[in-house]
Amino acid sequence: MPVVIASDCINCDMCVPECPNDAISMGAKHYQVASDLCTECMGFYEEPACLKVCPIDCMTIAADV
Ligand code: SF4
Ligand code: SF4
Repeated sequence: MPVVIASDCINCDMCVPECPNDAISMGAKHYQVASDLCTECMGFYEEPACLKVCPIDCMTIAADV
């Protein structure tokens, strides 16, 4: 399942360079993850790289919501 970004994202930009699939981009009000591009970093890292850098933990894996 893809990562989703909650509306409390502060647009800090920390997660963007971490994504091996270029799945994270600016949306209308805050950053968003393209669900068709996010693979939970499978094949690149053991854990979703973006989750580890988000300073306010507003990113979650969709299945966990
Ligand atoms: S989990 Fe990985 S592939 Fe998905 S948005 Fe985060 S960094 Fe990108
Ligand atoms: S690291 Fe978190 S707060 Fe920063 S832009 Fe990404 S989702 Fe938003």
